[in-house]
Order: sequence, then C-alpha cells, then structure tokens
Amino acid sequence: MTQQTPLSPPEFPKICTGLINGELADVAGAHLLDVINPATGKTLLELAENSPEQVNKAVQSAHAAFMNGVWSCAPISQRQSVLLKAAELIKQRADSLAALDVYTTGLVFHRSARPQIFAGASWFEYFAGRIGTQDDKLFRQLPETHTLVTREAVGTAGLFTPWNIPFQGACLKLAAALAAGNSCVLKPSEQSPLGAEALVTILHEAGLPRGVLHVVNGRGPETGAALAQHPLVQAISFTGGENGGRAIAIAAAQRFAKVTMELGGKSANIIFDDADYDRALDGAIMAIYANNGQACLAGSRIFVHAKIADRFIADFIARTHNIRIGDPFDAATELGPQSSQAHMQRVLSFCDIARQDNCEVLEQGSTQAEHGYYISPSVVLAHDNKTRVCQEEIFGPFATFLVFDDDDAVIAAANDTRFGLAGYIWTADLKRGHRTASALRSGYVLLNTPMVREKNAPFGGYGFSGVDREGGEWSLNFYTEPKTMVVPYGNAPIPKLGKS
Ligand code: NAD
Repeated sequence: MTQQTPLSPPEFPKICTGLINGELADVAGAHLLDVINPATGKTLLELAENSPEQVNKAVQSAHAAFMNGVWSCAPISQRQSVLLKAAELIKQRADSLAALDVYTTGLVFHRSARPQIFAGASWFEYFAGRIGTQDDKLFRQLPETHTLVTREAVGTAGLFTPWNIPFQGACLKLAAALAAGNSCVLKPSEQSPLGAEALVTILHEAGLPRGVLHVVNGRGPETGAALAQHPLVQAISFTGGENGGRAIAIAAAQRFAKVTMELGGKSANIIFDDADYDRALDGAIMAIYANNGQACLAGSRIFVHAKIADRFIADFIARTHNIRIGDPFDAATELGPQSSQAHMQRVLSFCDIARQDNCEVLEQGSTQAEHGYYISPSVVLAHDNKTRVCQEEIFGPFATFLVFDDDDAVIAAANDTRFGLAGYIWTADLKRGHRTASALRSGYVLLNTPMVREKNAPFGGYGFSGVDREGGEWSLNFYTEPKTMVVPYGNAPIPKLGKS
C-alpha cells in the first residue's frame, strides 16, 4: 500500500440534494442515503433523495425554459460563449473538482480524476466549436423548389451518469445537449453526486440562464425512474449498467422518447505473436487496470497467441505484483480502492466462480487494508470462452487470459459475447490487423494502442453494450430533431379539386 498524502479535504456540505432552478431542493422528510468514501469506508455526507414531485418540478421548469426560448432560441454565439466560459472555470478549479470525484469514487487523483476534469472541460470547448459549424442542408431535386433541412433541439433531455466517470460523463452529455439548445435534467449516480452540483453551479456562473439545467439526486429505481418516466422528457442519454439501461429504455419506449445507451463491455484484447511485445504488454496492463479496473472499455479478455503466451502471462503477472495499490491522493498510487464494499466483494467472488468453471487462478486478489475497499488484482487463465469470467462484466482489476493459435478462431471467440463495446489488437502485420479489426463486432476498435478517444468519432457498442453512439455529430444528431421545410419559388400548378 502506498501511504496517505496529507491533503486537506474539500468543504463537504453535511447534506447533499438536488439543485432545482439553481437552488437546493427541500430536504424535509427526504429518504437519506450515505455517500461513502471508498478509501476509508466512512460516510462523507448524507444524500437527501429527491422525490418524484421534486423531479416533476425540475422537468416542468426545464420544459418551461425550453418553450420560452431563453436558451433554445439564444444566438449560437451566446451558447458558445457560455460553454467556453464554463470550460475555463472547470480548468481553473480542476484540483477541487477532481477531489470531489476522488472522495466519492476512489479514482486515483493524478492518473484518473484530474485528467478526467480536463477531458470534461475539453468537451465544452469541442461542442462550442462544433455547434458553429453544424451544417443545414439544401436539396434542389424538386423543380423550382428549395427543400431545407435544419436541426432543432429536441426539448428536455434526461441525462443519467454512472459512478466510474462522474464528472467527465456529465460534461460529455451536458456539453452536447446544451450546445444544441436543449434544457436538461441531470441524474448522477447516488454514489458520486458531488461533481454534478459543482458543474451546474459553474454553468450558471458562466451565464447559463436559470431554469435550463437541474440536478436530481437519489436511487435509480426511485428518483431515476421518475425522471425516465416523465412525459416531458423527450430524449434520454444513459450511461451505466444493463439493468438500469433496460428499465429506462422500457420507460422511454412507452412514449417513444429518443434514447442513447452507453452500457458495459467484455472487450477482447488480442495479442498476436508478431506484436511489438513491450508495447502490447504495457497496453494490456493499462487496458485492465486503468481507472481502478472500473472502465466500460476495459480489455478484460486477453487473448494471447500460444507462441508467446507463457512469457507474456508471466511478465504480466510480474508487473501486476508491482502495481502500487494505495491512497488515491498519493502521487505514487496506480490502483486505488474499489468503489464500494459490495462491488469489492463481487469482484473478489469471481476467483471462486473461475475455479468452479475449471479456470486456473494464477493470482488470487485479496483485500489489502482494514479500512477502505482496497484489493490486489486477480489474474485467471480460462480454457473456454463460455466460462463466466469470459462472459460477465466484472468491472474491477481482474484479468482473464485465453490462449489461441489460429486467427479465425480468435476472431470467432472474441465475437462470442453478448457485448460489443471495444476491441484491442496488437500485431506488426497491418493486413492481419485490418482483417481482424474489420471482423470484430465492436463499436470501437484500437490497433496497437490502448484507449484513446477521438472526439469527432462515435463511441458506443454493439449488442448489450448499447444503443446509438456519443461523440461528434452523433451526439448532436441525438440531441436534435431534423426538420424539413419545402419552399417552392415557382408557380407549379395545384390540382383544382372541386372547381368545375
Ligand atoms: P448503474 O446502471 O447502476 O447507474 C447509472 C445511472 O442510472 C445512475 O445514475 C443510477 O442511479 C441510474 N439508474 C440505475 N438504475 C436505474 C433505474 N432502474 N431507473 C432509472 N435510473 C436508474 O451503473 P453504474 O453501476 O453507476 O455504472 C457502471 C456501469 O456503467 C458499468 O456497466 C459500465 O460498463 C457502464 N459504463 C459504460 C460506459 C460507456 O460509455 N459505454 C461508460 C462508463 C460506464
């Protein structure tokens, strides 16, 4: 364990609740939830859950703001300056914003939480630029007619974010939705609610009119369900797990609201025998241990070619032993605590599950501290891709190896999953790389690189990894409706029905 670095904690409110019309929601009689610091296992503060009535108040206010045009009809230049100002304020306050994520999630300050704040700011910069170049279309196929296609904001968007990327996840959704002129109600994870309020406060400071954006807090099936079921929420963007996603998609389908679902994964990381060995090893370690192992796009099924398998797995385990587990504020730490006690126990339980399925447990993860949810990584060798460690999203520092010796067989096994989020390929042979990349049934394929995110490109998955995509024009298309306007400038004859 790395040692705790002295760092004075931010001023936490005693109680946290929703922010409706820029004001804290009434907490009288609210159901209270503990917000726990995963590094200590102690309660940081209490979260007062927002009732369906409070959710209704937030949505009604967002809808009224949309209809009066205070933001939806604001000049693009005004929206751009608010988004750019917000990005500037986020960067100025990066350390304290990152600390909020660290205290509620255990994300490592220097490696995950702080870079994610800057990534969040860059989404505001990106969509501020992007909205200025959104092209409308003009078609001229009809004679003496201009057919114009414009895109207009959808209305009120319900935005759901998970605990593993709390601040950045909210920034990505809000930057796109607000750039397009929507009103928004943000529902952060009940485990990590603090950054959302700070972000909304920043947006108000940057000039976003009151009423356009609200935060509601509480449990998914309570507060979240009230938002997902609200008839005035016309678009829902959800990032999270399968069960929450399904409940929300069903609620949205009742009224044909638009949905985008960014869900989990069990992504293949394929290491061919001709790969740049050292880079592939670094990449495999990053792909499973980054973000405390809690990343949707983790390369959690590592397929390694038989010719290099023994050496690669031995080197991977040696590096795993050296991973510095410890306090998330310590600059030396590489792996912080898991997000909650229940999650920690679930991750550790997969070693027994692996044994039941005849996998070899090469490294048995274990708890590392009396307090806090620290665990060491687990490494398993599976002999069958149908085993549960190859099929279920574990979402922790848990690497599963499979050995292959045939290119077609590894592609078939990589695709034998209900998920389809990311795919990693390591090879020096470009034809082999392109062939494999084309064959993978995944939304985001990385050849000879760990995860990098191109903002213009769509991000999301096939199958149980999601519906639709986020990023670039895909986000803007989601948060807008196309409108066609047909405008003749000639006098094409109109049939004169009823005229003798
Ligand atoms: P979660 O589904 O438990 O929660 C996500 C959000 O939805 C939270 O705000 C939660 O309160 C809400 N929610 C949950 N159930 C709900 C319901 N029935 N009705 C309404 N709202 C509900 O997810 P999590 O545990 O916070 O996050 C981890 C999951 O997110 C993992 O599966 C991970 O792979 C996925 N994820 C995906 C991406 C991606 O881009 N594809 C990114 C990050 C995380």
